[in-house]
Amino acid sequence: MILIDGKKISLELQSEIAQEVKDLISKGKKQPHLAAILVGDDPASQTYVSSKVKACENVGFKSTLVQFEANVSEHQLLSKIEELNNNDDIDGYIVQLPLPRHISEQKIIEGIKPSKDVDGFHPINVGRLVLNLPTYVSATPFGIVTLLERYNIPTEGKHCVVIGRSNIVGSPMSILMAKNTNLANCTVTLCHSKTKDLKEHTLQADIIIAAIGRPNFVTADMVKEGAVVIDVGINRVDDDTKKSGFKLVGDVQFEEVSKKAGYITPVPGGVGPMTIASLLKNTLIAAKKEF
Ligand code: NAD
Repeated sequence: MILIDGKKISLELQSEIAQEVKDLISKGKKQPHLAAILVGDDPASQTYVSSKVKACENVGFKSTLVQFEANVSEHQLLSKIEELNNNDDIDGYIVQLPLPRHISEQKIIEGIKPSKDVDGFHPINVGRLVLNLPTYVSATPFGIVTLLERYNIPTEGKHCVVIGRSNIVGSPMSILMAKNTNLANCTVTLCHSKTKDLKEHTLQADIIIAAIGRPNFVTADMVKEGAVVIDVGINRVDDDTKKSGFKLVGDVQFEEVSKKAGYITPVPGGVGPMTIASLLKNTLIAAKKEF
């Protein structure tokens, strides 16, 4: 079994990005600039956003954090979005999800200028992905494809089973893996909460990508010997031995599945760090105005 070290690859990517930033600046170009909007005080969202801001510093990007109380109105949020759309110094920005219930996430996402939508959530960018046009690929699927590439894991003609069909992970992941490109060309099965006999599908998989949000859901009896197992899940489970009172586990029962898998990502230290590195990569693409 080979452990896919997302932390290591993420650092490699970040040092490549940092070098590109130096090159841009030495050519007299401006420093890439990422902004993040955070609404409310959800601890997980705060952690994600502060990691993103810190990562900006590591690669030499400028970053701006815009914070709102949970009771901000949709109108106020849309006004800020309009302001960021028109601010030429900001190359790209994200709105950390989830948003409070009184705000329509879809309306907010559709307010983001597609050329600054470095999360790749805007319908125009999703459409461009489906049509195989240059676009911002949402960060988690982008990070997973990069891991497969950096570990030279063959994908062509393989059977990839994606579990989960969310707009931010499962669905774009299934589209990416089915594409007629070097890093894909898989036969893809997309499984979800209404799939019958999930195990029947996963046992046929050369590559399993689990994005469910249920701790230790994928067990060894569901995995073919030698399969590549990518665990997207980040789940908090109670743990009295930790100061925080919880630990993070994935969607895959790591102990038993790692004995059967050919390759596997750990949680933490697998897909998570790649998500941040991919967001930085998208911001660099935005700063370079590559499309
Ligand atoms: P989501 O809740 O939006 O989607 C979960 C999907 O799982 C749904 O499409 C649902 O159909 C499917 N599902 C639920 N129960 C199932 C079952 N019994 N059998 C088969 N499918 C089932 O979640 P999401 O936003 O896609 O996130 C999934 C997980 O990935 C979460 O743990 C989340 O925290 C994590 N996540 C991690 C990163 C990262 O950077 N590593 C990024 C995004 C999300």
